[in-house]
Amino acid sequence: MEFTGQCVLVTGGTRGIGRAVAKAFANEGASVAFTYRSSTDEAEALRHELTACGVQAKAFQSDAADFASAEAVVAGVVDAWGRIDVLINNAGITRDGLILRMGEADWDAVLATNLKSVFNFSKAVYRPMMVRRRGRIINVSSVVGLMGNAGQANYAASKAGIIGFSKSLAKELGRRGITVNVVAPGYVLTDMTEVLHHTVQKAMLAQIPLRRAAKPEEIAGPILFLASSAAEYITGQVLRIDGGLAM
Ligand code: NAD
Repeated sequence: MEFTGQCVLVTGGTRGIGRAVAKAFANEGASVAFTYRSSTDEAEALRHELTACGVQAKAFQSDAADFASAEAVVAGVVDAWGRIDVLINNAGITRDGLILRMGEADWDAVLATNLKSVFNFSKAVYRPMMVRRRGRIINVSSVVGLMGNAGQANYAASKAGIIGFSKSLAKELGRRGITVNVVAPGYVLTDMTEVLHHTVQKAMLAQIPLRRAAKPEEIAGPILFLASSAAEYITGQVLRIDGGLAM
């Protein structure tokens, strides 16, 4: 129960990696707040699952791309629990297409949801973390942000942007006792990758030394580690969780 007494905020928590992260922290005794964009029923179901672990849980409807909404979520958590120990910026979308066909709206939506959201929530948690002189910010990038990928220029730009942002923030906030790290998952079995054509899925698997995709729980574990006391002296790092794909 490493996280008993700690408060964790996860963006985009109702499914996939975010859901696995929320459950992993609840299993370790943390109070867990999570955001969701529109799926109220799923959010309510997750909230019940989390409280069944014997912890407090809160769901906030919030578009991660909206700055004011991020501030309201963080204020809501701090009002209720008085603190935020760990922020996981997980919310993300894809709008894939070759640059020839990629519209401005596809670019703007992906950059706003994946990258601006990380600015929004990091800025909002900075003060409550600074007051306590302790905090952990963990941002979910992707190996695509390191390697690039044809048909994902917008997504790759957003995920690479997260890395530059996080390293800068690590340098700014280290003296305040706040660490900022990035995880870069490879191919994870979630709704985001289920829609890919099976030939694309097969081609990805062929490039992964471990020859399989990750389960969301296998991303949650390393995130838990980065938030734990074992990772006290780690900041500004990018941890690839990809079965060896991007070594
Ligand atoms: P997913 O589509 O299952 O989950 C994404 C979550 O983000 C959903 O709960 C969704 O509602 C939420 N979300 C989307 N837009 C939002 C918004 N504007 N405001 C609030 N919430 C919003 O996908 P996932 O695979 O679980 O993705 C989680 C994160 O992991 C994303 O940042 C994604 O880019 C990243 N990632 C995924 C993979 C993969 O293979 N699945 C690989 C690398 C990185």
